[in-house]
Amino acid sequence: MKYYILPFGCQMNRSDTERVRTVLNGMGYVESENDNDPDIIIKGIIACSVRQKAIDRVYGRIRNWNAVKSERPTLTFISGCVLPADRDKFLKMFDLMFPIDQLPELPDMIRQYGVPTPGAFETARVETGTVSSDHIGAPEIGKPGREEARERIESFWKVKPSYSSVIEAYVPIQNGCDKFCTFCAVPYTRGREVSRPSAEILDEIRYLVDNGCKSITLLGQNVNSYGLDKKGEELSFPELMRAVGEIGRESGKEFRTYFTSPHPRDMTRNLLEVMAEFEVLADWIHLPLQSGDDKVLLKMNRNHSMDRYRTVVNDIRSILPEAALFTDIIVGFNGESEEQFEHTIKAMREFKYDMAYIARYSPRPGAVSARWDDDVTREEKERRYRKLSDILLEIAAPLNRRRVGTVERVLVTGEDRKEGYLSGYTEGRIPVRLAAAGVRIGDFVDVEIISARPLSIEGRVC
Ligand code: SF4
Repeated sequence: MKYYILPFGCQMNRSDTERVRTVLNGMGYVESENDNDPDIIIKGIIACSVRQKAIDRVYGRIRNWNAVKSERPTLTFISGCVLPADRDKFLKMFDLMFPIDQLPELPDMIRQYGVPTPGAFETARVETGTVSSDHIGAPEIGKPGREEARERIESFWKVKPSYSSVIEAYVPIQNGCDKFCTFCAVPYTRGREVSRPSAEILDEIRYLVDNGCKSITLLGQNVNSYGLDKKGEELSFPELMRAVGEIGRESGKEFRTYFTSPHPRDMTRNLLEVMAEFEVLADWIHLPLQSGDDKVLLKMNRNHSMDRYRTVVNDIRSILPEAALFTDIIVGFNGESEEQFEHTIKAMREFKYDMAYIARYSPRPGAVSARWDDDVTREEKERRYRKLSDILLEIAAPLNRRRVGTVERVLVTGEDRKEGYLSGYTEGRIPVRLAAAGVRIGDFVDVEIISARPLSIEGRVC
């Protein structure tokens, strides 16, 4: 008896999926990678609502699954980030829908649905809550209070993940968000910010390091406001990072620790100084800009000005001069004028990003901005997207060309598309292609850079 699970979107969803696997594996089901495998009796989706495209793909997939249901009976479920606008439709299309923090109750839901279970569920591996029938197909809607949210998500975090990779791991340290940016629905889909207990995070990191993990990414919607909801009962984010740095020193092992995504408002010099102190805390910062214009930032409710952002970047450049800087930008937000877009271009040139993830604005149902006119035309968004993408290449290409002739420490993570080559990345997450001879996936190797493309580099092992 098999199951098939499909995560969409961000690293947080992929990390959540690792816990879903544990629960289903614990019930005795075996994962299938092939959606058409006739032995599959459970199919699930971990949804992402950040882009409409991902939601459209969910609709496409469930229609296909339902079309063959009479020939092959399967239980279908959906969890993850689901917007209120999609909930009612999904309820009609999927057999089960539940908020991800109710994962410990999934075995009971499956049993109540009458699906055969191949083995005894390992209750020791998760803390199961009590389940009532109204949980089935009827998730709680709206924002639970912080304490209720904390209780639920803490049970979820206790589920041991079935990691997708032995080399790279994602460790959730926080769930939800208190920032309420007007374009974003996360505070409504994931709820209020809740920090995971520090001791639990550090135990997981020790386990990963002891078991040979080479790259650990701490995940949260606002990762650097970690601990603020606990009012001093848990470590602050810089203290947590220091504790990870100490684990690195004590273990003597080579690994890198990343975090994503921080918020410019909560980015402190103290955090950057801790990062500078420890080898295992990678010199890489993903600092969302979203817009280079103060009025747009205000309308986005980003809670910081361009001056504040500039101060943070200056701090990064002075405390971590080697750090790679990544960002997120939205073009064509409601009311964004040509002049305001020009300010974003200016910011892009000023901050010299190594990488920028540029999105054309699309209103997310449930987010505040969805009530406003989406008044920048599709063609104009496309033009701004292309212009900014060209500027990114213009900026990143010389940064990478400067690496030619230098030696970079590269973590080798997989096969490259080019035959006979492997791929990996530098400490600053710049993708690297290198000849496979004598190198194994999972190795850290010194690589002499021999050529550069705008967003990647190629090298040979020294
Ligand atoms: S900080 Fe803003 S964009 Fe990020 S998750 Fe919170 S509300 Fe969404």
